[in-house]
Amino acid sequence: MKHVILGNGPAGVIAAETLRRAAPTDDILLFGSEDAPPYSRMAIPYLLEGNIDESGTWLRKSPGHFDRLRIHEVRGRAVSLDSDGRRILFDDGHFESWDRLLIATGSHPVRPPIPGIDLPEVQTCWTLEDARAIARFATPGARVLQLGAGFIGCIIMEALAARGVELTVVEMGDRMVPRMMTPTAGGMIRKWVEDQGVRVVTNAGVSRIDCRASNDAPLDVTLSTGEVVVADLVIVAAGVAPNIAFLEATPVHVAKGVLVDDRLQTSVPGIFAAGDVAEAPDLFTGAHLVAAIQPNAADQARVAALNMAGHEARLKGVLAINVLDTLGLISSSFGQWWGEERERGGAGVEHVDASAYRYLSLQFKDDVLIGATSIGLTEHVGALRGLIHGRVRLGEWKERLLHSPLQFVDAYIARSQQPMALAR
Ligand SMILES: Cc1cc2nc3c(=O)[nH]c(=O)nc-3n(C[C@H](O)[C@H](O)[C@H](O)COP(=O)(O)OP(=O)(O)OC[C@H]3O[C@@H](n4cnc5c(N)ncnc54)[C@H](O)[C@@H]3O)c2cc1C
Repeated sequence: MKHVILGNGPAGVIAAETLRRAAPTDDILLFGSEDAPPYSRMAIPYLLEGNIDESGTWLRKSPGHFDRLRIHEVRGRAVSLDSDGRRILFDDGHFESWDRLLIATGSHPVRPPIPGIDLPEVQTCWTLEDARAIARFATPGARVLQLGAGFIGCIIMEALAARGVELTVVEMGDRMVPRMMTPTAGGMIRKWVEDQGVRVVTNAGVSRIDCRASNDAPLDVTLSTGEVVVADLVIVAAGVAPNIAFLEATPVHVAKGVLVDDRLQTSVPGIFAAGDVAEAPDLFTGAHLVAAIQPNAADQARVAALNMAGHEARLKGVLAINVLDTLGLISSSFGQWWGEERERGGAGVEHVDASAYRYLSLQFKDDVLIGATSIGLTEHVGALRGLIHGRVRLGEWKERLLHSPLQFVDAYIARSQQPMALAR
């Protein structure tokens, strides 16, 4: 059996290793399209902070790791797929055949169609190559304009602050992290970063980026408000899109990402997908969802690989989890954090302690916790995750939590130990 894995990020690497354990004699080819050993994008902020060097981002550090496992590493970008003929065309013109295929090509940062977006001082923060460019421009005192205050935008702020830059963040939404945090939580994160000297402009976009005549400040960034901000570097963190171009005109069903079932198989038998590129069924609704975080990539890769090896494995359902460290303020959101309509059994509660930067929002459907947002409750987020992921039936604890939401750890201990408390 010959397994071809497209993409050598966390999903591709974990799938290859799982396959090797599950299918000791099969052929495994691991394709990567970047000129770097398999690495973790998660480590890029630490690289920019100077805490690690590039080798610190590598997913596997021991020399010969893949050779020892007889995982054949190949450099190549898939450009088209012939699903009937079971072969793929790569950018160097060669075809590769497969018996089982895993699509683990991740996603790429979106560059909005803004005049000037391709100037050299305008960078995304996604690859090692991006990190090298940012490191060149983001020198102490440099004026940096960051476009977007979403997940990646917040994560990289710490690294930018450590580099001593003067940072302005421009966000289209009405608050920071609008697609992951409640308005109250987004407002608290904003206040936190502003107190640390970051300028935040919400409800605004970038209309154009122009080179200035003089060399001392290369860019004039015009905002949708009409304001012009002078910047030495613009970092675009305006969202990502799955790498699926090579699947065009194939029978592999795609929506935002590649649609998979709970075995991580696509609409074409023998072709699987995992990680940031995959849209798998959500834990609660069954609707398909891209959950672009590394633990999710790892879980999906394991399940996909076991099925590729002929075993039976199923994903319980994706739970969207986002844990953010924004200049030292830890926030998290889980599941359906925005809640459920009252007519459909929805109820919610918020606890706000603005001065201590502590916040909790709990969202229920019937007596099950379906979503949560928290700030500053780092030591207990495991209990929140456990309640939501386990779909624990709270019984009388629901009313108690609606009155005293901070008692969620007690609820978790009390209810998760009762087998009957698990919802179907
Ligand atoms: C700056 C930053 C910070 C992050 N921080 C966190 C964090 O704190 N926590 C967290 O959980 N997640 C974090 N993430 C997200 C996390 O990195 C991703 O969820 C994870 O990398 C997904 O793994 P993946 O293997 O699916 O995709 P990727 O890591 O993107 O790997 C995909 C691979 O496929 C290759 N590829 C693409 N197209 C093709 C093609 N056509 N043919 C062959 N190969 C191809 C790519 O070059 C790449 O090597 C962060 C991401 C960034 C950018």
